[in-house]
Amino acid sequence: MLIDTHAHLNDEKYADNYQDIISKLNENNIERIVCASFDVPSSISAQKIAAEFDTVYYSIGTHPHNAKDFSKDDLKFYKSQKGQKKLVAFGEIGLDYHYDFSPKDAQKSVFLYQLEAACEMGLPIIIHSREAYDDTLKILDDNIEYTKNGILVHCYTGTLDYAQEILKRGFFLSFGGAITYKNNHIAYEVLHNISLKNVVLETDCPYLTPVPYRGKVNEPKYINLVAQKIAEWKGVSVTEIEDITTKNAFRFFNRME
Ligand SMILES: [Zn+2]
Repeated sequence: MLIDTHAHLNDEKYADNYQDIISKLNENNIERIVCASFDVPSSISAQKIAAEFDTVYYSIGTHPHNAKDFSKDDLKFYKSQKGQKKLVAFGEIGLDYHYDFSPKDAQKSVFLYQLEAACEMGLPIIIHSREAYDDTLKILDDNIEYTKNGILVHCYTGTLDYAQEILKRGFFLSFGGAITYKNNHIAYEVLHNISLKNVVLETDCPYLTPVPYRGKVNEPKYINLVAQKIAEWKGVSVTEIEDITTKNAFRFFNRME
């Protein structure tokens, strides 16, 4: 079975049906979900959802889009979550220069505060990086001590060069529905050339719904289409993709049972 390492079931789009979605995970070939957060309220609701279901774990953190609203109280709240039973990662945190919803300086300092907090809390880190791989890698390289619990660059859509830079540091990459899109030759080049040793899968739902369901709200069950695409590109069975990515997910999220 598969693990969806990045699902925003704490998004308000699922307020009425997250329980239904989670109760059907097993029949949809999914054994675990990491409910990823993007600010304090979503972290609180992720924790609540994880407490309701054995199959759901969660992360806490402030997305770069929300960096401009980040406060010291937010940091204090995150640190107070240390040791929570189903908390398995810090994230998604990082840099987003595509939208620039928050000024770059704010994004960088909020990223750094949270890297430090994650390290202090003993948590691996889920990174969001969009059009910002140079700055992201520089910050990680300059603060290598904060990366020792593991780094996962989620929803990877960059080039083969950056993928190799990330993997050579021992970091992880996660792939989602974007690899099924028509204009996916870069993703093909990346996946064709890298080892799957540090690769995991995700949906990033409600975003990035895979083909042929593009336009609909994404759901964890569509992660099967991502696994199928990688199996096709790698010339291996879907079962093989399931086995390796699930094993990798348990290795990365080492507090997940
Ligand atoms: Zn996300």
